[in-house]
This record gives sequence, structure tokens and C-alpha cells, in this order.
Amino acid sequence: MGTRVACIGECMMELSERPDGSLSRGYGGDTLNTALYLARLGVAVDYVTALGDDPWSEEMLAAWAAEGVGTGQVRRLPGRMPGLYIIRTDAKGERSFHYWRDSAAARDLFAGAGAAETRAALAGYDLVYASGISLSLYGEAGRAALAETCRAVQARGGRVAFDTNYRPRGWPDKAQAQTAFRDAMAAADLIFASTEDLEWLFGAEGEAEVLRHHGRCEIVLKGGGSPPAVRVLAGEDDVTVPASAVDRIVDTTAAGDSFAAAYMAARLAGRPPAEAAACGHRLAGTVIGHRGAVIPGSAMPDLSFA
Ligand code: ADP
Repeated sequence: MGTRVACIGECMMELSERPDGSLSRGYGGDTLNTALYLARLGVAVDYVTALGDDPWSEEMLAAWAAEGVGTGQVRRLPGRMPGLYIIRTDAKGERSFHYWRDSAAARDLFAGAGAAETRAALAGYDLVYASGISLSLYGEAGRAALAETCRAVQARGGRVAFDTNYRPRGWPDKAQAQTAFRDAMAAADLIFASTEDLEWLFGAEGEAEVLRHHGRCEIVLKGGGSPPAVRVLAGEDDVTVPASAVDRIVDTTAAGDSFAAAYMAARLAGRPPAEAAACGHRLAGTVIGHRGAVIPGSAMPDLSFA
């Protein structure tokens, strides 16, 4: 059996408001984007989350499966619903995001009777990927259960990847987020960190918070600048890989999510870190040239890992 990846998190229903007030429906979530791009790059990946037993949960499952994302570990919680957000665009074209997510099924992935089964299944994956947004879903007890599950993954020889996506509104206060991020970084074998996220969360000490793990684990530090460069620290290596300039940036949604997917796909195929970063840039650079998180399949760059 080949390498199996699990992406953990939440996908929400997305409603976009049109100028006449009508709403068009989609769905979205950071770790789902990563799962979907991993699947497109030929990686065997499951999305691990909880949904309800409503029609929209059914639709999401069907859509993920159609993209080649495994749904065998999606918990279904009777009577529950997915979270929801509305994207409102004002007269100036500025977008704002409005959430209904407190009761979302995904928040109970590590709670209740079915959680033990999910945790046992997760322990069998070769690579488990979660983001800072994933961590914000579960509360302290859920995060402890996830941390224990990650240790079980590692005990069986698997690896754990953490992406620092930080959305302040997902957390009751900054201190809890800081503790959760510190714990997650200390437990990870691969960290995708954005200097912007780290600065929001830790201030001037942001980079130091991740660089303290240099040598212990692989670090992909995504910096600013235009085009932005990433610094990859793996073992003795410390290389900076700049992105190519992108002709026209249309929408940066899922830039980091797709970068992580291409990076992990390349590393799983045995490519060295610098080459994996170049693959990340190629996919992310393509994704930001299109509207929305998920580009048409026909627009995928040819990243052959064969
Ligand atoms: P996110 O904010 O989603 O985490 P980042 O800003 O870290 O995304 O960008 C992720 C990747 O997207 C970068 O490493 C790069 O490959 C690509 N990217 C983002 N902005 C640009 C840009 N201005 N020019 C070229 N590539 C870009």
C-alpha cells in the first residue's frame, strides 16, 4: 500500500452575495483545499472532518469524492449541520466574511462516542496534516486528543505536518492560540509557517518561535516580498527559494493551501526540500492567477513526480 495522507479540518458552506442580494452557493476550507490539490497531484489523501446528515453535507461529500479526495473518515453527526459563511462585497469591491460556525459538526470531530474510531483510524496514516484553523475548532480537550493522536501517528513511523494559518476570530483570546500553536509546532515534523501569521500571533518574536525548531524538524518559512520567497530549513540545509513573478494576480485565496499540497506531494515523491518549494511556488503561482480557491483541473501545472 502506498503513502496515505490525512488532512484534518473543516469545510464550510460558502454563500456569496450578489449585488441584488441573492446568494450563490459553494463550499470552502483551508485544509480541504490542500486535500483537494494533493489528490490532483496523485497523492492518496483522505479528508478527516465531521459533517451532518443534511443535504448540503451530502453534496460536499459527493463533490470531494468527485475530486478524488477520500471520504471514508468523515464522521456524520445526526441532526448537525456544516458551518456557513457569507461573503459580502461592498460597493467598492471590498469583500467581508461573516460566519455561522459555532455549532458546526466539524467542531466535534474529537468529541463524543465516534471520536475513538476517528483517532484510531488517524493513527494509521503516513502523514497527518492540520492547520492553525483546524486547531481553533476543537477546544482544549479536542486539541489534547488530536495531540495524543499525532503522537500515535509518530510512534508508528508516520509524520505530522502543521500549517500556521491563523484567524484571530477563531480563538477566544490570543493566549490560547499562542499555547496551541507552540504545542503544535513542538510536535510537528514539518511546519509551514507564514511570517505574517506568526507576527500577528507572537509579534516581533514570531520567527524565533518557529526557528527554535530548526534541526529538530523541517521548516518552510513563507516570507513577504513580491514575489515572495520561502526559506526551507531541513537538517543542515537552509535555502531560500524565491517565487517567480506572476503576470496577473486575480485572487490569492488558497495560495498557502496549494503551496503546502505541492510541497508535500513533492517530498512524498522523494524530491529534496528546495525542489519541493519550487513545486509549491508553481502551483500557488497558478492558483493566484484564477478566481476562487480551486482552479479548473485543466489549469493545473504539470508537476510530474513520477
Ligand atoms: P497564504 O497567505 O495563503 O499563506 P502566502 O502569502 O504565504 O499565502 O503565499 C503562498 C505562496 O503563494 C507563496 O509562497 C508563493 O508561491 C505564492 N504567492 C503568493 N503571492 C505571490 C506573488 N505576489 N507573486 C508570486 N507568487 C506569490
